[in-house]
Amino acid sequence: MSKLKEECGVFGIFNNKDSAKLTALGLHSLQHRGQEGCGIVTFNGKNFFSERRLGLVGDNFTKGKILDKLPGDSAIGHNRYSTAGNNLIKNVQPFFADLHTGGIGIAHNGNLSNALYIRKELVKNGSIFQTTSDTETIVQLIAKSKRSKIIDKIIDALFKIQGGYALVILTNKTLIGVRDPFGIRPLVLGKLNKSYVLASETCAFDIIGAKFIREVENGEIITINENGLESFKPFPKVKERPCIFEYIYFSRPDSIIKNTSFYEYRKKLGHHLAKESYIESDLIIPVPDSGVPSAIGYSEEINKNVELGIIRNHYVGRTFIEPTQQIRSLGVKLKHNVNKSLIKGKSVTLIDDSLVRGTTSVKIIKMLFENGAKTVHLRIASPPIKYPDYYGVDTPHKDELLASKLDLDGMRKFTNATTLQFLSIEGLYKAMGYKNRSSTFPQFTDHCFTGEYPIKPVDVIDKSFADDRLTFMSTKS
Ligand code: AMP
Repeated sequence: MSKLKEECGVFGIFNNKDSAKLTALGLHSLQHRGQEGCGIVTFNGKNFFSERRLGLVGDNFTKGKILDKLPGDSAIGHNRYSTAGNNLIKNVQPFFADLHTGGIGIAHNGNLSNALYIRKELVKNGSIFQTTSDTETIVQLIAKSKRSKIIDKIIDALFKIQGGYALVILTNKTLIGVRDPFGIRPLVLGKLNKSYVLASETCAFDIIGAKFIREVENGEIITINENGLESFKPFPKVKERPCIFEYIYFSRPDSIIKNTSFYEYRKKLGHHLAKESYIESDLIIPVPDSGVPSAIGYSEEINKNVELGIIRNHYVGRTFIEPTQQIRSLGVKLKHNVNKSLIKGKSVTLIDDSLVRGTTSVKIIKMLFENGAKTVHLRIASPPIKYPDYYGVDTPHKDELLASKLDLDGMRKFTNATTLQFLSIEGLYKAMGYKNRSSTFPQFTDHCFTGEYPIKPVDVIDKSFADDRLTFMSTKS
């Protein structure tokens, strides 16, 4: 099956004798951003070392096992999120290449929206690709650049790519962090004693005791080497437009952005959801874990407790990891069970952060009714997702998005909810602290809800890429 991807987690550290161990810890705390594969590249002043594995960080990067094979004072790491159907080790990052300027390791969170276009040109001119990942396009562009300094080669390559990207790059002298011109994907800078650290989210700093310094800005390149830290802004300046989905779903609730935790943002979404669509019921129940913060916010707004009416088994991955619809449906059952004694004979308000294909809601509502719920009012703490994403979010093709196929009542019938309401786009902006969408536009990239894409998705518009796209997008690392 074809589907877009994906979130990933990236991490980098410079000048620390425990670089591989600290990277493994950082990746472990970013595990929610990708569970399919993980890898670390280190440099010990002389040689690069690279270890990549399928599966979880904690199962692979343990002492006495791979970590001992990763000496060096600087390291980068990557967690990969992709469809299991393309569970290939060759697509697991960081990628490593030997250039004539020296080795380079690269880890990418995001998705390039013109990678196929560039790849086709490169292949025409003799480039040989070893993976199906868009990230390899960046490596090939860097290798092809005629500039002599590595940083200039990287900037050369960045001027050709489009889309969402947060990169951590390791060369033989320098750790480099890059955020795309719109800052669609996140990247933060921290410090652990004398070592600078880069990570997708601040939760990766907490686990190693590093101090958050600041966000890498949109369109900013940061270089960290023995001379310290330098910042470059080579792109024409545009206003930041981070992906709204980081706020709604992806980032860990305890990570902090713009002085506020994602937990707080999500509670606000719940407050506004209650303001817009409160309905009387016996119980307020979140879909765990994703719906918990917004359900707490909803309940605070109406002054009534949340109950854990659905219990989640934490030893199965996110349902989205599963490759087929059939297994994905089973995944929901493996993952959730009804807290029976609570539900029987009750009217329920069920709260989740988002509705994509509807798989989760259908299963959970069915379970609730089978266990004696009288009514189930489904409340979603974000607007209907009508448009696919091309910059690194795993929202599928348009025809798989429930809200692109059905109107509100159609979705209600499909999920078998007694009533169904979504948070409005205006409510979403209010929850984020703005008066409304138009007064702040474009504060976020919210194309999943509005269809307004900040960057033309070149690979999608060009029909000649249609077949390639299916393979490519379902295998991107
Ligand atoms: P669905 O079951 O297809 O309607 O997807 C909605 C559920 O998946 C919600 O519980 C969300 O928390 C979660 N979700 C939403 N977006 C994503 C995503 N891009 N990747 C993985 N899970 C997601």
